Amino acid sequence: MIKNIDSVLKEIASLFIAEKKEIYLVGGAVRDMLRGKKIHDWDLTTNALPEEVTAIIKKAKGKVVPTGIKHGTVTVFYKNQSAEITTFRTEGDYTDGRRPDQIHFTSSVEEDLSRRDFTMNAIALRLPDGALVDPFNGENDIKAKIIRCVGNAGERFSEDGLRPLRAVRFASCLGFEIEKQTLDAIPLSLSISEKVSWERVRDEFDKILASPVPSAGFRLMEKTGLLKLFLEELSICRGVEQKGFHEFDVLDHSLLACDFAAEKNYSHEVRLASLFHDIGKPSSRKKDENGIYTFHRHEEISAELSRKILNRFHYPNAVIDSVCHLVKEHMFHYTEDWTDAAVRRFIARIKEENLEEMYRLRRCDTYGFSGKETNPHTLMLLAKRTDKMLESGRAFTLKDLAVSGNDLTEEGIPPGKIMGMILKELLETVLDDPEQNTREKLLEIARRIYKERK
Ligand code: ATP
Ligand code: MG
Repeated sequence: MIKNIDSVLKEIASLFIAEKKEIYLVGGAVRDMLRGKKIHDWDLTTNALPEEVTAIIKKAKGKVVPTGIKHGTVTVFYKNQSAEITTFRTEGDYTDGRRPDQIHFTSSVEEDLSRRDFTMNAIALRLPDGALVDPFNGENDIKAKIIRCVGNAGERFSEDGLRPLRAVRFASCLGFEIEKQTLDAIPLSLSISEKVSWERVRDEFDKILASPVPSAGFRLMEKTGLLKLFLEELSICRGVEQKGFHEFDVLDHSLLACDFAAEKNYSHEVRLASLFHDIGKPSSRKKDENGIYTFHRHEEISAELSRKILNRFHYPNAVIDSVCHLVKEHMFHYTEDWTDAAVRRFIARIKEENLEEMYRLRRCDTYGFSGKETNPHTLMLLAKRTDKMLESGRAFTLKDLAVSGNDLTEEGIPPGKIMGMILKELLETVLDDPEQNTREKLLEIARRIYKERK
């Protein structure tokens, strides 16, 4: 029996009880309540049909959106809260390992629970009294921190190939262990997992990345074959030894870097970049004449491979661009003898809005050398100089130049490739010597270049 049930949730429940319908809280919310954690969304299940749910909520002046009507789900908005309400259902046959061919409504909550993936997710909390319906002993598994399939793991995975990845994701997010039979069934279901859409895979992958120690999830993916299936570029980093400062192979280094990003609560982009920043190493590794490994221009290959992966996962272009930029530029080597012009060129290349994220990526990368946090002394010196330089209001982008493309057109330089090249050279000039950033001086230089190149 669970107490402390939210009062709005109880009110919603009373609307159903008044109509002689059953209603339960299910899924992650119940699991998280039993773990003593805050719950973030409400999934409800009822024997009322979707049109009955709609009528009940509308009668009480709530709003209803038919968000998943094919699966019997509507989203309701009531007193500033929202909940997904799904009619008790079972699933028909799965012929493609992705989605049930059809669903059937049922009048039994136990039957609804039996279609769910793991015992910890197959507990219903009856509203409004909080009594638990727990036919698969999920509460015990939660106490023991165990992820176990409802029923036969191999069969459940062959119905939906996403479930193995969900098991790994939950292990990483909750710090739970996957029970042996469930774990053993994962490698045997890879041909089913292969059919799952990349969008669904990405949702789970994102949750692993957002988990407290993402390497826990990625190591489980590696152990079960899921890493090779979905992220082969990363899996081949295993055993790619590197010498010098590095204690670890490329995969362990990348996982440590990513764990540091999670520990520091860095952005999703930095987490992605820390995981992928060295994936170009396996294909760029060479031994020099002293028998030392080199990875010449690996950052460019890493950026290309990152773009390929992120496109495959259908990330938004803005995310892809910022991650690839971070990866491509991660190999800067600051020393105190950098001239001011070198600092300005660094800002121009990285761009002001990415500097902070770039420094964070560097901190992750450095952590990945040894698995120990070090004092980011050199990085702080660079940050101090870039801060000071930015405050000085100098020009770092084409927009900051004292002349625009229009000014050049007025000088008779036609828009197009040559103008682009001239503007770039003007920026280079100003980065070298900010005193040159006046209209007269830049126009003079522009005219000269145009004459030479025309
Ligand atoms: P989270 O905290 O990440 O939201 P959750 O357990 O609520 O975790 P959801 O993906 O929101 O996960 O799904 C809600 C519930 O629906 C699950 O708890 C589970 O009972 C069921 N479920 C979701 N996906 C599947 C699936 N692929 N196969 C079987 N049951 C599933
Ligand atoms: Mg949920």
